[in-house]
Formats: sequence, structure tokens, C-alpha cells
Amino acid sequence: MKPRFGLQARFLVAITLMLGVVVLVLVLLMQRQQQMRQETESISREAVHRLVDTYLRDHAASLARRVAERLANPMYYRDLDAIGTVVRDNSRDSLVDYIRVYDLEGRLVHDGSVEIADFGKRMDDPLAAQAIAADGLHVQVSPTVVDASTPVMVGSERVGGVRVGLDLQVAGRYEQRNLSELGALMDDLAKRHLGWLALPLGLLALVSILAAWHVQRTLVRPIRWLAASARRIESGDYTVERLHSARTDEMGDLVRTFGRMSEAVARHDREVRRMAYTDALTGLTNRLAFRESLDHRLMLLRGAGRQLALLFADIDDFKRVNDTLGHEAGDEALLQFANRIREAVDKYGGDDALLARFGGDEFVILIQEGDVRAAATRLAEVLVAELRRPLDIQDRQVFLGTSIGITLFPEDASSASALMKNGDIAMYQAKVAGKNGHRFYSRAMDHAVERRVHMEQELRGAWERGELSVVYQPVCRTSDGRVVGAEALLRWQHPMLGMIAPSVFIDVAEQSGLIEGIGPRVLRTACTEAMRWAGMGDGNDRLFVSVNVSPRQLRKGDLPDIVAECLRETGLPASSLHLELTETAVISDELQAAAMLARLHSTGVKVWLDDFGTGFSGLSHLRRVPVDGVKIDRSFVADLQRDPDDLALTTAIIAMAHSLGITVVAEGVEKEAQYNLLCERGCDLVQGYWLSHPISATEFAHLLARRGR
Ligand code: C2E
Ligand code: MG
Ligand code: MG
Repeated sequence: MKPRFGLQARFLVAITLMLGVVVLVLVLLMQRQQQMRQETESISREAVHRLVDTYLRDHAASLARRVAERLANPMYYRDLDAIGTVVRDNSRDSLVDYIRVYDLEGRLVHDGSVEIADFGKRMDDPLAAQAIAADGLHVQVSPTVVDASTPVMVGSERVGGVRVGLDLQVAGRYEQRNLSELGALMDDLAKRHLGWLALPLGLLALVSILAAWHVQRTLVRPIRWLAASARRIESGDYTVERLHSARTDEMGDLVRTFGRMSEAVARHDREVRRMAYTDALTGLTNRLAFRESLDHRLMLLRGAGRQLALLFADIDDFKRVNDTLGHEAGDEALLQFANRIREAVDKYGGDDALLARFGGDEFVILIQEGDVRAAATRLAEVLVAELRRPLDIQDRQVFLGTSIGITLFPEDASSASALMKNGDIAMYQAKVAGKNGHRFYSRAMDHAVERRVHMEQELRGAWERGELSVVYQPVCRTSDGRVVGAEALLRWQHPMLGMIAPSVFIDVAEQSGLIEGIGPRVLRTACTEAMRWAGMGDGNDRLFVSVNVSPRQLRKGDLPDIVAECLRETGLPASSLHLELTETAVISDELQAAAMLARLHSTGVKVWLDDFGTGFSGLSHLRRVPVDGVKIDRSFVADLQRDPDDLALTTAIIAMAHSLGITVVAEGVEKEAQYNLLCERGCDLVQGYWLSHPISATEFAHLLARRGR
């Protein structure tokens, strides 16, 4: 991190500057003091010097005068002894350097010494001339001496003169001593001053240090903590521990507000994340989060050489629920589905499993524990079994199923997007293969999907090319086991793809509208075929043919006309033609359906409700929709022996239908036991592999001939 000039540094700099200024002022003050002291010293020296000078002059003058007075008589009498005594008496003063007595011509008379070496010699020192010449008191100064001379008078007669010399060196020493005493005093004073200055300075330094420490503790530290926390929050880390501050000042307010704010931000972030990463309806992980997690896991797995399986589960025919029961019911169904999937994944998916809803009716599961292929197979089987159990929605039983596509990493693909595409393809193949099952992805499937895109184009001319045919599945009466009719079922034998399941191409035909062309052809073919069965019957009751009608044909509105025309053209009695409508088609627009049914009835044909029980019409619905028969869906029949609910429902349907005078047909009878159960419950007609698979018209004719019906 770039070094920066932080708050604390600034504060320290400010304090240092402040201390610096204080020290500077102090230094200036001391300098000033020093200067003052020097000035004071020089003034004092001058004053002392002047004082000493004046004193010396006065002293020399008065001493000279006093000595001159005392010398008047001895000089008059030239009494050398007396002169000597006076001179010596006065020479005792330590200041006195010399006392010289001289005559009118300036010759030395006495200098206080015993031998008077220079007696009678004219004084010739530098000050002598002026002293001799002066006719009154005369004071002169040389560098070493203050010389005062005065004439010695007897009355008004001058008898000689006397010179008193005061030693300037002694005076100088005295002066010096005085000055150094003064200096010492001033030093002392300066020291005391310094002491007084150092005390506040020390206090100031102490206070500054305390202030810096205080600022660090109460301002810098919390601000740094706030800044660090803010940075962490900014980088998306919301695990900042909350700083509880008991402080009542602004910083306390700030810390508390910050704490609250960071919590609010974290909450908001959690909320946004939750919203962005979870599916609002089921609370499961959504596509976005799943994609992120998948990318992440792939990255980890790539290095580790481990496997991963993706299961794409799509609810079969889920659109029906929304179309017939409304979106609320659709949501409810999705929730129940999601819960079942979650339970299954929790149980069989391993700890690392991840379940997501991809929107709509698509769920994706990721597993990565153990042998993923085996685990994926087991989970897929459980899911298919779990999800085909009926759902309870708005007091109705809803039957749905699931198709699951499975793709493996790294076998099938190594990137997330390729894996997701593969899963989708495999899921689609599971649907193509008849729904309610699972398929593993294989590379061949890519091809198949491409072909699916072309399926619509292929289907367009299929009838003309003779690829489409109609097969017939016998319908038997339970009372005597005789074949009473057959259901016409469309088949598509594609030259390249082979046999294509109706559940796949009927969808394509329905969605593309091709069914509007194909449907009437099937009807005509079936009617023509059924006419041929006439001779094979015993004459009393003709064999009927039942033809599936798609919702689209029903909606179009011209169905009754087509039916009437078909009957007229083929000559088939209306009573021998049954139309199978799906519940979905009937319920999505009950009013229109009722009108359409009335018109169909007017042509004399019978109308059956196909796949009864998987739609959501419920038993009460039968009262409002005038149908002649219901075909109990094969999913109920399949579980008759195992599931008491299915048996109860089937029994109820039969009883209810009978009370309304409606025929009951059971589809998908694959076992004798099922047949027996249905017979027992009074089911009128049955249809299923146990009796016969759908067979060609010729085979059906043979069968009739063989059985004698
Ligand atoms: P669906 O009308 O319910 O037809 C009965 C389906 O059950 C047929 O499937 C039949 O082969 C199958 N099936 C019969 N007995 C058994 C059994 O014992 N066990 C099992 N598991 N299945 C049995 P298919 O032929 O695959 O037809 C599927 C659906 O396609 C039909 O269901 C029908 O809804 C639709 N479909 C078929 N042909 C036509 C057609 O010409 N027009 C229209 N609009 N839809 C058609
Ligand atoms: Mg049918
Ligand atoms: Mg059916």
C-alpha cells in the first residue's frame, strides 16, 4: 500500500510544529536574554568604570589636597623627615601607587622612600610636565595611573607641589571583581529564568504527548477501524464484527451508526443475493447461482480428476396444469415437485449434491460423490418413481411425470455450458423415448436433436410419402371377453430415424398445426377400415373404431363437419365411430367444448374422454360435460394392484360413470391380475398389451377372423 499522510501523522506533525514554535520562541527569548545580559553587563561595566574613574579622580584630588595641606609646614622648613612621615602615612592606602613631593622647579623632594633615590632630580615621567606646570589642582590619567597634583601653599606662597598617583590596576581589579560578581548574579538569574521556562515547556511536551495518545485512542483508532471495516464491506466481506461503543460523544454516535449501517448493508446484500441466487417460488438455487457453482466446481474437479453428473429433470406435460387449472395450481404443483425432488436428492444425492430450479418446470441436480454414474442412475430412478405419484392440488389428484437427462463430466463435456446443453439434449431424448424415464447423454443424441429440429419439415410430407400409418389396438368387453372395437393409433415410420413415438411427433404436429391436416386423414382411414370390419361382425353390433382428436382440431370448429363428411363418404354408421378427446382439450374451454360436444353428438358419434384421471376434471366434471365414455388412464391401471388409492379411485370412477350412464374403458391393461380386478369392479371395456398390442389393419382383420371376434 502506498504510504500516506494519515490523520495521526498530521496530528503528530502539528504537535511537533507547535513544539518547534515553542522551542523557537524559547531560543529567541534566551538569545534576547543573553543579549540583554551582555548589554546590561557593558552598561554596568561602563557605569562601574565611570564610577571608579570619578571616585579615583576625587579620591586622588582630595588625597593630594589633604597631603598638600599637611605638607605646608614641613615644606616650608624643608623638614625631610616630616615630609617623609606625611608621605608614608598617606601611602598606606592600597590604591596609592606613589606620592611625590617636588619643589617649585619640579625636582623630587620626597617619594616616601628612605633613600629617596631620585632626590633632586627633575621628574620626567609622562605626566610630570603638566603636573609641574599646573598652578592649581590638576588631575590627569594615564593607562596605569590617576595622577592628581596640587601646589603646596604656605599662605599664598607656593613652596612646592605634591603628586598623588592612584594605581589603576588595583582599581581595575576591583572593578573586575565587581563585574564578575554581577555576572554571577545574572547567571544565577538566567538559570532561574531558564528553569521557569523549562517547566512550562516540559508541561507542554507532556500535554502534547498525552493529547497525541488521546487522539490516537479516541479518534485515529476508531476511524482506522471504520475505514478498514468500510474497505472490507466494499470488497464484499460482511463478516465485520460489530463494534459496540459505549461512548456518548460524536465518535460513539458514528461507530454505532456505522455498525447499524453495515448491518443494514449486509442485510440488504443477503437479501439481494438471496433474490439473485434463489428461485422465488421454491426457494431453491436458481440458474444463475447454479451456473456459478458449476463453474467453480468444474474448476476444482478438473485438477483432481474427479467426476460429476448433471441431471436435467423436466416435468412432462406441465403446461397442461397451467392451462387447465390456472397458474396458482401450477405453482402449487411445482412446489410439491420441488419438495419431492429435494427429499430424494437429500437421501440419494450425497453431501455435495446441488439442486436448482431453472425456471419453468426444469430442475437440475448436480452430484459428485462416489461412482457418479451409478448414483445418477439410482437418483433418476427414484425421482421418476417419486414424481409420477399423484399430486394433491386444489382437492384434485394431478398426475404428472418427469423426463430426466443425465450427462457426465468429464466424459461428455468439460465446460459448464456444454454440459448443460448435453443435459438438455439427454432430457429431451428421455421425452422422445416416451417420457417418465431417464436417459444418459451420448454423442449420437446431438444428431438426434438436430433431426428433431427438422422433424416438422419431415412430418410435412410424411403422409403423402406413406411414412404415416394407422394401427389398431383391440378393445375388449369384460362381460364376454369379445373384441368390440379398436382404437386407431397413428404411427410414423421415418426412413432414417425409424419408428418415432406418437408422444413426440403428435406434439410437433399439434404445435405446428400439421395435425389439422393429418387428423382428418386418420379419421377417414379409420372409418374406411372400420367399414371393412362390418362383415366380420355377427351383424348385431358392429365393431367401433375410436379415433384420437387433438385439442387443436377441437378448437378449430370444423370437426363436426369433417366427421359428418367422413361418415357420409365411407358409409360408416355414426354409432361405430368414437372420438377420443383429451381432458385438457375439454376443460380449457368448457363452454366451447360443451357446444362442440353437442354438435358432435348431433352427428351421432360417441365421444370419449381419453386419459381420464390425469387431467384434472375430477368426477364432478363428468356431470357438466356430456360424454359417452371415459378411458381410465393407464397410469392408474398400472398401479391398481399396488396402490390402494388407485384402486379406490378407479372403483369410484367406474361407479360414478355408471351412475351417469357413461361407459368405462380401462387402458394399458398389461397383466391378467389387472384385467381381473377391473372386471371385478365392473369396468365395461379394456384395452392393453395383455390383450393385444396395437397392430396393423391386416393383422387386426386376421385377429378378428381368428377369434371369430
Ligand atoms: P392414447 O390415446 O392414450 O393411446 C393409448 C396409448 O397407450 C397408445 O400409445 C398405446 O400404444 C398405449 N398402450 C396401449 N396399451 C398399453 C399397455 O398395455 N401398456 C402401455 N404402456 N401402453 C399401452 P401410442 O400409440 O404411443 O400413442 C400415444 C398417444 O398419442 C395416444 O395416447 C394419443 O393421445 C396420441 N395419438 C396417437 N395417435 C393419434 C392420432 O391419430 N391423433 C391424435 N390427435 N393423437 C394421437
Ligand atoms: Mg386414445
Ligand atoms: Mg389414453
